[in-house]
Amino acid sequence: MTGFNYEKDADGIVTITMDMDGPVNSMSDAFLPLLSETADKLEAEEGLTGVVLTSAKKTFFAGGDLNMLCQVTEDSAEEFFHGVEATKATMRRIEKLPVPVAAAINGAALGGGLELALACNHRVAWDDKSVQLGFPEVTLGLLPGGGGVVKAIYLMGLMASNEYILEGKRVAPAKAQASGLIDATVATLDELLPAAKAWVKAHKDDEAASTQPWDTKGYKIPGGGVNHPAVAQMLPAAAAMLQQKTRGLLPAPAKILDIAVAALRVDFETAMRIESRGLTYLACTPVAKNMINTFFFQMNQISGGASRPKDVEPQKTRKVGILGAGMMGQGIAYVSAMAGIEVILKDISQEAADKGKAYSEKLLAKRVSKGRMTEEKAQGILALIKPTAANEDLQDCDLIIEAVFENIKLKHKITQELEGYLAEGGVWGSNTSTLPITQLSEASRDASNFIGVHFFSPVDKMPLVEIIMGENTGDVALAKAFDYALQIRKTPIVVNDSLGFFTSRTFGTFIDEGVRLLSEGMHPVKVDNLGKAIGMPVGPLAVYDEVSLELSRKAQETWEEMGIDTSARDGTVARDVVNTMIGEHGRGGRHHGGGFYEYAEDGTKAIWPPLLDIYYKSEVNIPVDDAKDRLLFRQVIEALRCLEEGVLRTVADGNIGSIMGIGAPAWTGGLLQFVNTYGLARFSSRCDELAAVYGERFKAPKIVADKIASGETFN
Ligand code: NAD
Repeated sequence: MTGFNYEKDADGIVTITMDMDGPVNSMSDAFLPLLSETADKLEAEEGLTGVVLTSAKKTFFAGGDLNMLCQVTEDSAEEFFHGVEATKATMRRIEKLPVPVAAAINGAALGGGLELALACNHRVAWDDKSVQLGFPEVTLGLLPGGGGVVKAIYLMGLMASNEYILEGKRVAPAKAQASGLIDATVATLDELLPAAKAWVKAHKDDEAASTQPWDTKGYKIPGGGVNHPAVAQMLPAAAAMLQQKTRGLLPAPAKILDIAVAALRVDFETAMRIESRGLTYLACTPVAKNMINTFFFQMNQISGGASRPKDVEPQKTRKVGILGAGMMGQGIAYVSAMAGIEVILKDISQEAADKGKAYSEKLLAKRVSKGRMTEEKAQGILALIKPTAANEDLQDCDLIIEAVFENIKLKHKITQELEGYLAEGGVWGSNTSTLPITQLSEASRDASNFIGVHFFSPVDKMPLVEIIMGENTGDVALAKAFDYALQIRKTPIVVNDSLGFFTSRTFGTFIDEGVRLLSEGMHPVKVDNLGKAIGMPVGPLAVYDEVSLELSRKAQETWEEMGIDTSARDGTVARDVVNTMIGEHGRGGRHHGGGFYEYAEDGTKAIWPPLLDIYYKSEVNIPVDDAKDRLLFRQVIEALRCLEEGVLRTVADGNIGSIMGIGAPAWTGGLLQFVNTYGLARFSSRCDELAAVYGERFKAPKIVADKIASGETFN
């Protein structure tokens, strides 16, 4: 049998080594026939004393076939459901063998991989960094439908299984063992098979050991059944908390909770069938298709280097110079040192530079105090950061990133003064948030080595880096910035130069539309609540206060000084509101003494009362669905424009960039993917409706009609 190697030893133990065609073992079309032939053979095997299941690949087993899952529609749902049931029935045959079965987990066992391991009576894993266990399905809008939800409940109980099945947490073997997901670990790979075999041998005549908990009479689920007071008390709150967290926009967590509760109420086989039905339901939802498309396929495309020039060899950064040790510079220094890169952190005085380094000291001390890093390792990382005020220390940096004040004259000046310190072939990056890279690069003696490297705040938490190509930026600079982003474990997207690049430009439309709703008379609390109702993490007014109205006023002034025409952007209403808020009332945002909200010392906030007098009109009644669509469609339309104008170079960059950079709702799979599952024609006519009532800014960009005509979607 190719795919599953079958070998019986002198003790009567059969070892099944999974080695399917392709790089990983997965639930492809080949899987079920292989598993079922294996079950036939094992059931007929004479003198069988036990079974060990392991893998010849680096991973143990990679899980479901996502390509196939994306194809499921309501028409094929029944067939899909029967396929899931058939797979589970075959795994049950392995469970019901009269001999002990052990899984020897030599690599990652996620989703279907962990479910396969759970079909064994005993699980032993190699305690190595490469071995991760968990059920990531929920992060793709799905659920572990091969028995994962039900068995997690049987093994860990309702409360303890939450982080696995509802949050999709992946854990190391030691943690999985502590949770009860696996039974044992070994320190080296060489010990793995012997340990699994030893367990099988020791339990060959032990009927209890070859019986699964869910098949054991009188087995009690940890933490209690549905009538246990703690569980009964928790259930209503759990549903409400989940609703609050997902705002009803993500169907998977709600479905998983339903099935988890069902597992406590009904018998095992019925719960397993309910679980299969739940997976079938989710596989048909547009949300699952969106999430699989973007978080799996497009994410792999990006991290696989699709936006990086192929013919430039790897560009490792050894020594990075960071100019400006302020809020951004100190964060960039920290993430660089964490990746083992030598850092020169330069500010105008030694004191300012030291202050920037102190930020890393604080973050590292926190890690040490939480037991997540040794003191020695933390000291090693800190030693990589040299705070300085001396230009000469920048000598031989192969990458310099400037993060000084947002002022074009200053940025030009330091480029001219300090570019000469770069090592031969070194690259100059700017972390500007609003200034066009092409104009910034005019001060450079070699604009082909000048590139935008746009981080997000707080740098240590935000996963995205937006790389911006100026008109003259070359491929080596792109490769350098791209490889550096991966080196510091961020996700890079690559865009062409444009005012506000991709992320700020698109995000600006969300804020602008929120401000418009306010100025049309909608209650500010309602504006922000509707922003959250579409799935944005924070409402448009609250987030504008955070990024500060003052900042956009300054940016506007700078653009005017630079002679940049911004009339094509729909920012006029926001500009008027900003002028009123700052010019007449001194409300520049949270860090400027308050903005739309006022902020108390204890961290709470409330609407700044005069805001209602200025803007609120109780007679105005904008339909909620219109207001929600306005807040979402403005962003989608701007993303489409970025694609049409070539600011976005790929759809994947647009989707990943919108979710990771500006918090676009996960259920959309990104702002461009949203259009695919909404339907291009439907999107276009909804845009027409909104444009007729609210203005031309809602007209769908031409690229939508072009795609409809060619029968394509945004991929
Ligand atoms: P900041 O004011 O906190 O820090 C700027 C630092 O630059 C200060 O420490 C200042 O002393 C130093 N500096 C000024 N002139 C210098 C010089 N000649 N040489 C060395 N250091 C000098 O500002 P920030 O928020 O960190 O922003 C820095 C840059 O990053 C700006 O271009 C900004 O647009 C951009 N940015 C900011 C954010 C954000 O959220 N704050 C996000 C993305 C990008």
